[in-house]
Amino acid sequence: MIKTDVRWRRALYDTITHGCIAFLSWAVVSNALHESPAFVSALLCGILAMVLDGDHFYEARSFQLEKALSLQHRPFMHSTSTVIVISLNVWVLVKFMRSYWNVSCLDYLPWMCLIAWISHHLRDANRRGMWFMPLGSTPPLPQWMYISLILLFVWLVTVVLYYRSSTSVVNVTYLGSTSVNVQNSHIIEL
Ligand SMILES: [Zn+2]
Repeated sequence: MIKTDVRWRRALYDTITHGCIAFLSWAVVSNALHESPAFVSALLCGILAMVLDGDHFYEARSFQLEKALSLQHRPFMHSTSTVIVISLNVWVLVKFMRSYWNVSCLDYLPWMCLIAWISHHLRDANRRGMWFMPLGSTPPLPQWMYISLILLFVWLVTVVLYYRSSTSVVNVTYLGSTSVNVQNSHIIEL
């Protein structure tokens, strides 16, 4: 019983740490993009990173931690190629929804999924390496390398989103005069 409690506590700590890393990573991205509400989106990113470990229970077909942790294989959401494909599908879905509804708040969702899930995989890679199904796994990554790769990935996503938003110029009508909206928060009156 005590052993089970310790394992639950350790698993909980591990999952919360994944959540905190994703939360902070998205906070950096959204701060650079002047996105708001930054706290809510960073929280969502943290939750996305935490729910990833639910695949252990799904594949064990049980809520018992012992069964979830004693799988003979890595669960499917821990494959980096799988989460890249899922994020691409989310991106297509958001594009499709945007063509029918004005749901701009979903624009960053695919990127949020990528930050949440790849930061989770990089941290897990310290023990088991990165898994690219069906190609195989890398050797375990040393701590300095997985931390550097998370930072590099966050920087890359920030740069891509920053340049994407700065090149998307949209004409809008603002208080009766024509304006050009550059990025999210800058409105230049003509
Ligand atoms: Zn994990």
